[in-house]
Amino acid sequence: MQTHVIIIGSGFSSLAASCYLAQAGYKVTIYEKNDTVGGRARQLTKDGFTFDIGPSWYWMPDVFEKFFQDFGVSTVDYYTLTKLNPAYKIFFENNESITIEDTLEKICIAFEAEEKGSAAKLKEFIAAAKHNYDIAIKELVYRPGVSPLELVTPATIKKIGQFFSTISKEVRKEFTNPKLIQILEFPVLFLGAKPSDTPAFYSFMNYADFGLGTWHPKGGMYQVILGIEKLARSLGVEIHTNAPVSEISVSKGIATGVVVNATAITADVVLCGADYHHGESLLPAAYRQYSEQYWKRKTFAPSSLLFYVGFDKKLQNIEHHNLFFDTDFDLHAREIYDDPKWPEEPLFYANFTSVTDAGTAPEGCENGFFLIPLAPGLEDTPTLRANYFKKIIRRFEALTDQNVSDHIIFKESFCVTDFIKAYNSYKGNAYGMANTLLQTAFLRPKLKSKKVTNLFFTGQLTVPGPGVPPSLISGKLVAGMIESHYKKSNMSNLQAV
Ligand SMILES: Cc1cc2nc3c(=O)[nH]c(=O)nc-3n(C[C@H](O)[C@H](O)[C@H](O)COP(=O)(O)OP(=O)(O)OC[C@H]3O[C@@H](n4cnc5c(N)ncnc54)[C@H](O)[C@@H]3O)c2cc1C
Repeated sequence: MQTHVIIIGSGFSSLAASCYLAQAGYKVTIYEKNDTVGGRARQLTKDGFTFDIGPSWYWMPDVFEKFFQDFGVSTVDYYTLTKLNPAYKIFFENNESITIEDTLEKICIAFEAEEKGSAAKLKEFIAAAKHNYDIAIKELVYRPGVSPLELVTPATIKKIGQFFSTISKEVRKEFTNPKLIQILEFPVLFLGAKPSDTPAFYSFMNYADFGLGTWHPKGGMYQVILGIEKLARSLGVEIHTNAPVSEISVSKGIATGVVVNATAITADVVLCGADYHHGESLLPAAYRQYSEQYWKRKTFAPSSLLFYVGFDKKLQNIEHHNLFFDTDFDLHAREIYDDPKWPEEPLFYANFTSVTDAGTAPEGCENGFFLIPLAPGLEDTPTLRANYFKKIIRRFEALTDQNVSDHIIFKESFCVTDFIKAYNSYKGNAYGMANTLLQTAFLRPKLKSKKVTNLFFTGQLTVPGPGVPPSLISGKLVAGMIESHYKKSNMSNLQAV
């Protein structure tokens, strides 16, 4: 009889794990609480406009390709990718902006125009970042975070200093122009911590940015979810939506199944791809590994205030991806991490996929996605949301030199309370747990429960960390761990016989 794996949730990590497990011959059933798959990467459609609810930056195309190739297929079999040029635009104060194009050579020209001598330094910085990327991808991120020794390789020993220095320090050693510093510190924000708390080794994100480029799947990131869902179903994975798991049943240290919509369903293995803290809350207290104190002490990645806006005209002076760094970066970072509160003058990000992908808004219109990073756990009220929308739209209008307020057809928002309600997210975090030095690799919550033999976890709170590519990798890692666990237990059964 096939071993039955029940997976809780259908985010990138769960869907990825389901594919690997089905390919390995397991019977796999996914239970997802929401009415569609995708988790934080779901889609909103309204009045002819299409928005990705969460992720929008398609970075590290090699990781996506590797995922599909593990099943003998390719990304092109599921969606159409375009490399964006420009990759993105950054707005600074005093109406200044820098556009990041699609090759390092072009980016060097933009750097040199800001700071003499910076092009040569950038080439060296990105060459070193590429070296780190190669080490990270080949030797580190595909390890399951079981032992500190996973981090010790001949290549990483030579880089040890970079684990104890920070991105912030290293960037400042080479560059003095504040705009260039902000641009080089931006990619590690995806890892959920301040650049001054992120190990310098993570400069590999700068290579992902300037070396590998920013891509766009036609129709949006949700097309990637649909692609993986299609692959999973073709491998035999059963997917149930509107199916919240309310309990992981355990008997004598062994998970026996889950309870979904008041029905008990049996399983040989339970894999939780929902947020870790919530997953553990589904267990009887004695089987939880991490206390409330543990979670409280951790550095969580930010939550966000998000707006999805339909505009009735094409907008001026914008690109597909836009960063609004016209206010104090350090102050906003302090308001997220050190002294959690609603930011005074937040930095924000906006994308308009309809600039390059006409199908995502009606003709002559633009779809706007606005994101303000926030500390998790903040008070969240309609008035606060409305005030912050006014705040950023005023700045947006000034920086892009146009009126947009009178051209809004509709506006939807999503914030802390929605993250909790939609995903059972701890304190409403958006991107899971940050990748600081003390929350890297074996120091992150474990893929395999220490208290329940056949219970596993995956997703952005585990290894390797936040983001879509790491979530795909997390799914692969946990599937491999489940397979080797079952090989071992089958061996010991045979020996017992
Ligand atoms: C606003 C935002 C912007 C982002 N931008 C980017 C970006 O540009 N690029 C990038 O690479 N990454 C980005 N990320 C991060 C990326 O989206 C995540 O790292 C990734 O999608 C997480 O996948 P996951 O599988 O870990 O979890 P999730 O996507 O959260 O999946 C967990 C699933 O479990 C379900 N669930 C929870 N509780 C239960 C239950 N009791 N029963 C059943 N199901 C349950 C949830 O509904 C959810 O579907 C962004 C995230 C957000 C929120």
